[in-house]
Amino acid sequence: MQDAEKLRRQRLEMVETLKQYGIDNRRVLDAFNEVERHRFFDRASLTYAYGDCAYPIGFGQTISQPFTVAYMTTLLVERVPSGKVLEIGTGSGYQAAILDALGYEVYTVERIDGLKEMACRVFTELGLDIECRLGDGTLGWPEKAPFDGIMVTAAAPKIPGPLLGQLSENGCMVIPLGTYESQQMTVVRKHGDAFDKEVFQHFVFVPLVGREGWDDDVF
Ligand code: SAH
Repeated sequence: MQDAEKLRRQRLEMVETLKQYGIDNRRVLDAFNEVERHRFFDRASLTYAYGDCAYPIGFGQTISQPFTVAYMTTLLVERVPSGKVLEIGTGSGYQAAILDALGYEVYTVERIDGLKEMACRVFTELGLDIECRLGDGTLGWPEKAPFDGIMVTAAAPKIPGPLLGQLSENGCMVIPLGTYESQQMTVVRKHGDAFDKEVFQHFVFVPLVGREGWDDDVF
């Protein structure tokens, strides 16, 4: 079988697995079918591209498990179907590409230069119009605010204050909150000066390191 055909079949199988795990939002499943996850892997690791697991991407970081990406994306899509989204923690760039496929205007911030460069290169290769920036994402991207959605893809000890300030009215933030060992997926929605909070299941993410996150020297 041709490599491309084999990868396409594996992608369909990944989407079937997501359905079995309870992901049922049609738009989200279509985006997972559309975005070629293997483009975010190096050639030597292609066989791991469609397994439902996190995978090392260098610099001690990981591309999130497809189920985790699908779960967070569904929480966002159900509350904020369109608009401008800020992702904190570009990593491989896969989550940002999924958001782009869903039609959002996507901005993403990464603190590790090597990862930011790799992700930007893939965005260019794929012709995706995603703006990426190097920096401490716990401070958000004030020049581009407000955002209808903010997605934090690293483990946060608390909700970074600057991110709350960059949500638009009725905007939602999806963020894994908790300890270094385990976090609960949390959705925060802005209503005027107040914020509603919903709490979901546990996950394990790499730490959000920054001024409003974990200290660099804790790890
Ligand atoms: N969304 C990514 C997975 C990210 S893993 C993907 O789809 O592949 C978490 C990422 O968050 C890592 O790349 C890590 O370097 C980054 N990160 C951690 N703290 C950060 C911060 N304060 N600002 C921006 N990026 C951060």
